[in-house]
Amino acid sequence: MTRPTEAELTGIEARHSPKPEVDAIGGRKLKPSTLMMGHGFDPALSEGSLKPPIFLTSTFVFPNAAAGKRHFEGVTGKRPGGAEGLVYSRFNGPNQEILEDRLGVWEDAEDALTFSSGMSAIATLFLAMVKPGDTIVHSGPLYAATETLIARILGKFGVNYIDFPAGATREEIDAVMTKAATGNVALIYLESPANPTNALVDVQAVAASRDAIFGENKPPIAIDNTFLGPVWLQPLKHGADIVVYSLTKYAGGHSDLVAGGVLGSKEHINTIRLMRNTIGTICDPNTAWMLLRSLETLELRMSRAGENAAKVCGYLRTHPKVERVGYLGFLEGGDDERQADIYRRHCTGAGSTFSLYLKGGEAEAFRFLDALKIAKLAVSLGGTETLASHPAAMTHLSVADARKQALGITDNLVRISIGVEDPDDLIADMENALAAI
Ligand SMILES: *Cc1c(COP(=O)(O)O)cnc(C)c1O
Repeated sequence: MTRPTEAELTGIEARHSPKPEVDAIGGRKLKPSTLMMGHGFDPALSEGSLKPPIFLTSTFVFPNAAAGKRHFEGVTGKRPGGAEGLVYSRFNGPNQEILEDRLGVWEDAEDALTFSSGMSAIATLFLAMVKPGDTIVHSGPLYAATETLIARILGKFGVNYIDFPAGATREEIDAVMTKAATGNVALIYLESPANPTNALVDVQAVAASRDAIFGENKPPIAIDNTFLGPVWLQPLKHGADIVVYSLTKYAGGHSDLVAGGVLGSKEHINTIRLMRNTIGTICDPNTAWMLLRSLETLELRMSRAGENAAKVCGYLRTHPKVERVGYLGFLEGGDDERQADIYRRHCTGAGSTFSLYLKGGEAEAFRFLDALKIAKLAVSLGGTETLASHPAAMTHLSVADARKQALGITDNLVRISIGVEDPDDLIADMENALAAI
């Protein structure tokens, strides 16, 4: 974050404001994986500490009264752009600001915010963007808590919603947008790939449809990029305006923290920041510090997990006890051709979370899960360790049977998130567990 150099602000700025950053060498723009080790932090401002200290403080001292006034103009939105210095830890802090700077780097976003969880990020986004009578157009299915938030909680406050299926064509999206446009559409909200079906949304088609139908008064497109971002999918390049993350998953990556993030243009981020300042959904400094460590290995971890998943899925695909493997790397031709087309236009990798359909039902799936020795039986994804779960009996237990059927959440479905272990060890684990069925 670049900040003003007015004399009145210097004292307080010094703790966290980066010195002129080395983001390019001889015209070569440095890659995110390089920038994660230093971007946004100057050791000279923290006793030479190579790593940023964790700033455990609830409030920050102003150098003088005029600086305090100027900061509050930013915090309250009297002047756009947020605070120019550190004020109070519900609004900002050094660890969170360094983290936000580095998070933005991955997707070339103008600005970013971090939150106490993925859901608090999504809730803050919604509260900032919609009012009673507005409509949210969304792809379906969405992460279960996001669906609850839109339908049951925002619904109580008079917010309407209408959805289209994740794999919808331009024509199908146009039809839903046209219907929605009779009301005031405040936000278009996507999730791709969708949880737990892995269906991809055609972000380019959604953006083209939005531009054609809404013209001047177009609502922003936000997208939950938790499953493939930022390494394998960068939706801002395909027409999205705002990207949302559960940083709990691949970004945190070690299954030891809960956090969320939002990236986008300064204008949208300023709107969301005002809501975060008001309700206090910011990430805490300790978690922000852990995420800074995680981001240093983000590309390494995601690359290895992606390679491992390709090997494991290749093994599972031909196993006689396996009915089907729902893995983005296997999309091609036939019924999958439309999804394969979206994949080729949007994604640079298939991720490491997939659906394994075993021959049989719940009994066979449970026997497989109980026999796994390396993979842990737990919900969540994107950690260094491989996790396996049974959506129909766990994350989606409360979903109505008809909807479960429509979404393909069957009793023989096992969800697997591959980690960074040795791939042949993982295959041995799968082989052994399949033998137990
Ligand atoms: C986990 C998850 C969330 C919620 O994030 P939390 O950090 O658990 O609050 C939202 N969207 C997707 C796709 C997720 O996987």
